[in-house]
Amino acid sequence: MSAVGTLAAIDFRAMHHLAELFPGKALTKVGKLSDYHAGLKKSNADSDVYFYDSGKKGATVLIVGGTHPNESAGFMTAVVILENLKIETGRAIIIPMVNQSGFTCTDPMEALPMYFEIRTDKGVRRFPSGSRASNPLDQWPDPLVYTQYPSGQRYSGGESRNLNRCYPGKANGSLTEQVAYSVIQLLKKEKIDIAFDLHEAAPEIPIVKAIVYHAKSEALAMGAILDLEMDGLSYTPELSPPNFHGLSHREWGDNTDVLPLLMETSNPIQGRLRGKTNSDLILKGFSPNYQTAKETGALKIAYDQEGESLESRVGRHINGIVAILNNYNLEYPDKAISISGLPTYFDLKKNKIGKYLN
Ligand SMILES: [Zn+2]
Repeated sequence: MSAVGTLAAIDFRAMHHLAELFPGKALTKVGKLSDYHAGLKKSNADSDVYFYDSGKKGATVLIVGGTHPNESAGFMTAVVILENLKIETGRAIIIPMVNQSGFTCTDPMEALPMYFEIRTDKGVRRFPSGSRASNPLDQWPDPLVYTQYPSGQRYSGGESRNLNRCYPGKANGSLTEQVAYSVIQLLKKEKIDIAFDLHEAAPEIPIVKAIVYHAKSEALAMGAILDLEMDGLSYTPELSPPNFHGLSHREWGDNTDVLPLLMETSNPIQGRLRGKTNSDLILKGFSPNYQTAKETGALKIAYDQEGESLESRVGRHINGIVAILNNYNLEYPDKAISISGLPTYFDLKKNKIGKYLN
């Protein structure tokens, strides 16, 4: 890279700050992904890992946000949980920005906002909106074809920077493969019992407003979906396909003892019809184009006519996690994990998300 190119890169990186988070009182420790794979030390991918240990017997849950840093509700759900969580039995571990590198850039050619701002009682907080993939400044060049390790499955080259194609990862692999490797080591070393990977997708994607489950998590997903239906919240169950490699819900389950689940909400800013693209669309999720598509029935989409607000998307994730943990506790009463302090979907819709940020 030329000197000019290097300077431009430094400038660009300096412009894109990560957010400061304010964990609640139940926090017991903050670690790093590099605690599980030293290769990440001092890299742009060495993300924080937050621990909440009740000190009492029970399961350990892992909650992962920011696999795709452009999917703001996945990240913000982890933030709301880490700033509000109370824990009575068991242990929770939260990684809000698991692909930290991807939070330092946006997807090219999409005119996406770099930030969104949320008003809280103490002032305005700014959060990064990132890219689906790791920053090319951290991992470059992309191969023409990305050969997934170790399955040998082939994806387009850009997918080599997509963390959710890189599991179970590789200790001496690319930066993104090393992040995946560190998460697998964490799952093993911390003896995680149940793990959530929080996502979003465009309203026109078939797997949206969904709970994707590994076969061994099926009973939990199905039980939770019935419970959520009673609350008036509808989730589509999706079995993780056995031959689709590199994804968390597949590889976490195949390579460790964990029960993995992935959840998707409907986020208009990720879709082709989104129209005016700004931070308001991240926050309110209101798009006149999707409204028309829904009204005319031109597309089969998952879109609420009031808009898919950040509150409703984060609320769906939180209610989904709580319902699945309740079902876990019914199935494994000797290892029950008991958490509290989290706002529900209905609390978030009523009071707005800023009320639940420190
Ligand atoms: Zn995603």
